Amino acid sequence: RAINLSAGPSAIPLEVLKTAQNEFLNYKNSGMSVIELSHRSKLFESILSNTEADLRRILDIPANYKVLFMQSGGTGEFAATHLNLMASKLVEDKQKALGTDKKAKCAYIISGVWSKKAHTECLRMGGNAHTIVDGKSHFKADGYYDLPAAAEWDIPNPEETAYVYYCDNETIGGFEMELDTVVPHIDPSIPIICDMSSNILSRKFDVSKFGVIYAGAQKNIGPSGLTIVIVREDLLIRNDSSNGLHIPSVLDYKYFADEGPMPHTPTTFSIYICHLVLQYITKNGGITTLENNRNEKAKLLYNLFDSNPEFYTNPIQNNFRSKMNVVFTLKKQGLDAELISQALENNIVEIKGHRSVGGFRASIYNAVTLDQVRFFVDFLNKFADSHI
Ligand code: PLP
Repeated sequence: RAINLSAGPSAIPLEVLKTAQNEFLNYKNSGMSVIELSHRSKLFESILSNTEADLRRILDIPANYKVLFMQSGGTGEFAATHLNLMASKLVEDKQKALGTDKKAKCAYIISGVWSKKAHTECLRMGGNAHTIVDGKSHFKADGYYDLPAAAEWDIPNPEETAYVYYCDNETIGGFEMELDTVVPHIDPSIPIICDMSSNILSRKFDVSKFGVIYAGAQKNIGPSGLTIVIVREDLLIRNDSSNGLHIPSVLDYKYFADEGPMPHTPTTFSIYICHLVLQYITKNGGITTLENNRNEKAKLLYNLFDSNPEFYTNPIQNNFRSKMNVVFTLKKQGLDAELISQALENNIVEIKGHRSVGGFRASIYNAVTLDQVRFFVDFLNKFADSHI
């Protein structure tokens, strides 16, 4: 097996793949492959309900939250989060109180490319996109490496704020929020929307602090095609007018919640693999084990960079270093192609940084094992030693 450090779609635990392989042609003696099952069949309904139950247990999702299995992708959620919040009774009532000449603010914390894209999408849809803080422009930097302390943020008053949006882990920049970075600084009456696409299931967090959490499955949960949305039920309540918005059904949280778990054909195969991944997580110690493993793996890589600063650089402020996407550059010019080809010779793939930022990125999601990270660190050490 390759050591797959891709940012997504990414590695899936081998045990899960083997189970899927064994069950593939004849799922539970149905005489059908799992991808041939009707989504209305008892067998698939059981896969879906187990997936939801496992996710609820692993993340300790409170009963007043709905779990939706959508196909929007992260990109679809940039629009869906905005549209659904603006249509909610909570925001429409705020808008009414503000009057017609003042638009409720959609407030964004911009810590990287993905939160910036969400902010842009809000603007495109005519939203009153407000920037609470933008790490790149605040520090007049060429990228997102740090965020100023919350005391310097421009957080609008609760009465004029529709929602606060942020991205918990910026996959491209390797910039992750520590648990207390955002939530404690936002008035609890403002719904917080959080993009957890690339770090969900990597640590414990309190779901009840959020209005909406979403995650594309293709990093820590399973194959691409599935997007999981966890939404607080009161945000699904609407007035008849819903701020005059029509939300396309495939992006409409209320439609998904009201019509049951499957208002239209879901991504059955992605959900099936997700189901196996959640079973695997449960069998192997749940979220506590995942969090410990994540810490240990990330520490190995950051220790290497910190102990070898004349060769490797990670540009992110220490408290924002991502434990999922570890970015780095080489101090010496002209060695990048060689690092990639030597990595390939060692069966290590997908370490090139995102095309928009360059450098390198090692995505060490849950399915990347501690031994694989040790091997990679050893490889990087040897590479540095042979080029000093
Ligand atoms: N948000 C984050 C944090 C991401 O990493 C990505 C994609 O990698 C997206 C959003 C966009 O997701 P998608 O490609 O599913 O539209």
